[in-house]
Amino acid sequence: MFDWLRFTQPDFVFSAKLPKVITHQKKLNLKEGVETDLIKFIELMQPLWSNRKLGPLLIQLPPSFDSDLDLIESFFKILPNDLNFAVEFRHNSWWNDETWNLLKKYNVANTIVDEPLLPPEPVVTADFAYIRWHGHGGRPWYNYHYERDELEPWVPKIKKITRKVKTVYGYFNNHYHGYAVDNCLDILKMLKVITPEQEKVKQKVNRFLKSRFQEPESKQATLLTATSIDRLLQRLLDPARLTRAKKILDKEVQIKEVTPIRIEANVKQYTIIIDANKKIITHDCDDWTRQAPKKNFCKHIGKIFLSLPEDQAVKILEEINVKKNDWQFKPIIH
Ligand SMILES: [Zn+2]
Repeated sequence: MFDWLRFTQPDFVFSAKLPKVITHQKKLNLKEGVETDLIKFIELMQPLWSNRKLGPLLIQLPPSFDSDLDLIESFFKILPNDLNFAVEFRHNSWWNDETWNLLKKYNVANTIVDEPLLPPEPVVTADFAYIRWHGHGGRPWYNYHYERDELEPWVPKIKKITRKVKTVYGYFNNHYHGYAVDNCLDILKMLKVITPEQEKVKQKVNRFLKSRFQEPESKQATLLTATSIDRLLQRLLDPARLTRAKKILDKEVQIKEVTPIRIEANVKQYTIIIDANKKIITHDCDDWTRQAPKKNFCKHIGKIFLSLPEDQAVKILEEINVKKNDWQFKPIIH
């Protein structure tokens, strides 16, 4: 963290997500001891905060976390006043005026996201705004690159939001291959607030992206990994299931999170969590409950591996194939 301080411009601020233990495991419940977890986390952030480099902290709720106003209010009450918090709701039971009024009462920002299912009018609930561009669902998600005409409608929206708040924070989550950097600069350019220095960086990024993704060799490498994914999947899915996995449409897949060790996604109405560290796959369809004891995949798990960045899919599949007994295939426990 001291390097973050040292190597960033004076006006650069960091934003962080609250640890999953608070939002996902203990679900903001004070009885589970989240206050201690929160204090510990804020202490960690202290060097950033005391150097005026700490932006809003994000309370990102898991998709299954549905509306409970009393619970969330009790959590808001323990938030320190001198820090900014934003909350990202991923269950639609939250999207109503009662929620927005509660957020306003505690000056917590509703996280404005670019999902098509959300209300089209951005809801502002604090004296700052927090926007996240996740990239769109489906196969190109991890290396999603927003086109100009997809970002263009955001320009009037952001201008409108700007008039209501002191500061607008915007984040791009499509971080694979550096697309997020490029899209951030796109938005700044469209808003006509890009600095000459940022303009130079943008040209550099564009040159990098062009050189990296137009080489014929890299295309061939992609093809090779694609066949090896197939080969690896054949050991875990019978041909009929593999065919059905390939028939699932990209738009039916919503990847919620990808890190080198953890993948969380929805396929249709089902949830999939792959924890490569603990070697656990949890999922909740009927076929999975039958396949899991035999250490076989269902079509949904197959589809997730077909949707991940190729190098990551190969790495995890190889690990599963080599050490099948170390992996646990579990039905989701709610
Ligand atoms: Zn399944």
